[in-house]
Amino acid sequence: MIKINEIFYSIQGESTFAGNRTVFIRTTGCNLRCTYCDTKYSYYEGEMWSFEKILQQIKEYDAEYICITGGEPLLQPEIHKLINILCDLGHKVSLETSGSKSIKHVDPRVKIILDVKTPDSGAADSFLLENIDFSSESGPASTEYKFVISSENDLNWSENFCRQHDLLTKFTVLFSPSHGQVSEKWLAERILQKKLKVMLHLQQHKYIWLPTTRGV
Ligand code: SF4
Repeated sequence: MIKINEIFYSIQGESTFAGNRTVFIRTTGCNLRCTYCDTKYSYYEGEMWSFEKILQQIKEYDAEYICITGGEPLLQPEIHKLINILCDLGHKVSLETSGSKSIKHVDPRVKIILDVKTPDSGAADSFLLENIDFSSESGPASTEYKFVISSENDLNWSENFCRQHDLLTKFTVLFSPSHGQVSEKWLAERILQKKLKVMLHLQQHKYIWLPTTRGV
């Protein structure tokens, strides 16, 4: 049994899986409280779901891609079992996590997106550095690092973090503008000026639907 906030079907708006029809499984609970969090409803709302019920729901959408998100999915140990089952069924599974919990036991077939928290998130220093050692450098399930940038200070901090831990040569690194705090254009220009080996990462679902729309 896993406490689930919502299961919904949409177009993946994030990571290199963006654009694919995807079923999202949002778990309940988060150990962080980021200043820009747009899923505060996931902190407490939810119900216990059996694996059977989850799989039945997913089947209805006939989607190859499954995204496990939160909240923080790694707070519930049972998530590993669900992930194993989904991979065994042949789904392409991605996991969105803040990296504040260990990814050591995540199924290696899963694409992990590590959302490293910057100073302006209010949750800096929450990242477990050992997770870099457990990241996968190659293959279809290679780990992606995401930084949500809210200011020039965040940009510089993220660049330093990447250089310090040699992320730019090993992994796909995504720099995403924090909605309403810095513009897409500003971040695009700063990436170009600094000649950063990162991808400008826009949350596509916020352009397709209203940024406040839930369940997309
Ligand atoms: S880690 Fe994600 S769900 Fe948790 S507070 Fe931060 S943005 Fe919200």
